[in-house]
Amino acid sequence: MGKIFKEIIIASHNEGKVKEIKSLLKPIGLNIYSSKKFKINEPIENGKTFRENSLIKSRNAALKSGIPAIADDSGLCIVSLNHEPGVFSARWAGKKKDFNLAIKKIEKKISQKDFFNKSKRKAYFVCALSICFPDKSFKIFEGRKHGHIQFPPKGINGFGYDPIFVPNGYKKTFGEMKFEYKERISHRAIAFKKMLKYFEKL
Ligand code: IMP
Repeated sequence: MGKIFKEIIIASHNEGKVKEIKSLLKPIGLNIYSSKKFKINEPIENGKTFRENSLIKSRNAALKSGIPAIADDSGLCIVSLNHEPGVFSARWAGKKKDFNLAIKKIEKKISQKDFFNKSKRKAYFVCALSICFPDKSFKIFEGRKHGHIQFPPKGINGFGYDPIFVPNGYKKTFGEMKFEYKERISHRAIAFKKMLKYFEKL
């Protein structure tokens, strides 16, 4: 990577995400800061898509800090629930960010459909990763991980919906996988690979 910038902000207050993003950025040796450290507020995510919300966050942090900012907007989409919770993934957990609550909500909605039919539990995680520069130029990269959801929730690793998501080709939930393993195969990892390729060309 041509060193056109040396530092970057991760525009997120979600510690689970910051940990994953920091680890994914390690290979390129930048100074990494979190928006919490810079006391940058969390903007209102009123976009209709993951891409829009991602850009709202990275642009807010880049303009307030004067250094390039990376943001991730991500969520779980359940096909039989009309792709919900989607961009509302965080909001389903309520103000207290209680993901047990969000998971119970999903379980209730799914059981009204056909809980025992795996195809009704098809789901995918989306990650829209954006980088925005202080001059407002930006790029967005998307990663998706397909799989299905299962109950009861299993595993204590990860965050959010990890205990109910089983990626295709695996029997374990993201919550049961080691951090280092999930980090290699996740929707976030897929989006990051695309971003790192873009950095190589800079
Ligand atoms: P936001 O992108 O910060 O608006 O929030 C997205 C929400 O989706 C997070 O709070 C998580 O609950 C959920 N989410 C996103 N990525 C993952 C993941 O890798 N595992 C589990 N939950 C996730």
